[in-house]
Amino acid sequence: MSAGMAFATPGVLRRWGTPRGALAADEPWGRLEEVGSGLWALISTPQTGDFTTISNGGIVAGRRGVLIYEGTGSNEGARWMAEQARMLAGRGPTHVVISHHHGDHTAGAGGFAPPEDAPNLRVTAATRDRVATGIDAATEPDRARLWADADLIDVDRPTEIDLGDRTVVVRPYLGHTESDVTLDLPEDDVTWCGDLVWNGWFPNYTDARPTRLSETVRAIQGDGRKIYVPGHGPLSGASEMTTYVSVIDHVEAAGRAAFAAGMSAEEAAAAYALPDAVSDWVIFNPQFFERAMRAWIRELGEGRDLDAAP
Ligand SMILES: [Zn+2]
Repeated sequence: MSAGMAFATPGVLRRWGTPRGALAADEPWGRLEEVGSGLWALISTPQTGDFTTISNGGIVAGRRGVLIYEGTGSNEGARWMAEQARMLAGRGPTHVVISHHHGDHTAGAGGFAPPEDAPNLRVTAATRDRVATGIDAATEPDRARLWADADLIDVDRPTEIDLGDRTVVVRPYLGHTESDVTLDLPEDDVTWCGDLVWNGWFPNYTDARPTRLSETVRAIQGDGRKIYVPGHGPLSGASEMTTYVSVIDHVEAAGRAAFAAGMSAEEAAAAYALPDAVSDWVIFNPQFFERAMRAWIRELGEGRDLDAAP
């Protein structure tokens, strides 16, 4: 596909060519890397033009349950993840946790909903409400039922999910959207970050609260995990997290300067360039700079209004 060809530059291939973990699967749409005992990270590669999974995700195997993180971007992607769970962990998913409402993380979740034995879907109310309203139960009854039966994640405190010999911690945040959750495994030194963290790709600010994103990312970074699975792009460690924080700080400086100068998001985006250290990052959507500037200008504008209120 031509949309994928545009990404096939040497810099991109170099960034994508080196998995950190042993490969459990390698397909045109993505690969599964082993990131611990009974832990596999899905690293999707939509820059090839194959949009089966789109977002990253993962499989966590326990003695009494198997958890899949993220719904992926298509039913085929979710079915493939469930099949990988059966092969690698010995059973299909008993739990599915989804980080936020965007389609590349939710659209495929219906693929986890066979007529029998559907997994327990865990999402926040904000995510459930945003997705469920877009489902036509008449044409997609299994998908509608999966979302209607979802258990809601508490957004005021972490939630533990017991998989038998291991417990995973679902941590509520916000910043990429109004409601994001990470999947944290402190004993395994791995955190799945959803789209709060990106690596090798410029982040999507469409629904972002940029000041909260900055706080959240620093909190996640402060946990000091050995492996962070970003929402998009290859696996991250400490140095990639430092680079990512430098990118969101760079965007912040540009957004604040644009706001102070009274620039429009379009003008600010036209003037923006990535720092040299990440000049080869993928810009998945040509609108992403403008969306980042718009998010900053929007939030700073709200702050001004609040200051002016009686
Ligand atoms: Zn995403």
